[in-house]
Amino acid sequence: MKNGLFLLFISIILTSCNSMAQNTEHKFTVVKTDDEWRKILTPEQFKVTRRKSTELACSGAYWKNHEKGIYKCVCCKLPLFDSQTKFDSGTGWPSFYKAIHKDAILEVADNSFGMERTEILCSRCGAHLGHVFEDGPRPTGLRYCLNSLALDFEKDTGKKEQ
Ligand SMILES: [Zn+2]
Repeated sequence: MKNGLFLLFISIILTSCNSMAQNTEHKFTVVKTDDEWRKILTPEQFKVTRRKSTELACSGAYWKNHEKGIYKCVCCKLPLFDSQTKFDSGTGWPSFYKAIHKDAILEVADNSFGMERTEILCSRCGAHLGHVFEDGPRPTGLRYCLNSLALDFEKDTGKKEQ
């Protein structure tokens, strides 16, 4: 029993040193079957968020959106990004330099298509959102490159301001 606990302790230390292992152990609190997701998402939203597809550049609803508000996960409505951190990246995809909260986004290594990229997921339901790159503006230097189809925009009505 003591040995077992010791091994558990060691494996926890090793796991926490390895962010990838940590991410694969992440527990999503919103879990649905594909059929359930299909009922609440459009076919295009399903393809992006549940099948890791990417919308065509300049095709989405939000890359040119300059309105104030909050961008939420289209699947589970978790707030992900604030329009205050949105910037024009010139890519044709909505881009942000910072997540609304560090725990809102889960980062996972993505080596598909022969590229080393970092995929970003909704931390609550595992929706594929896009990727994060290290060529963003200050202060973070990060560029969260999102699919509009993975987002739901809630316009700031100004009621809470001042
Ligand atoms: Zn979500």
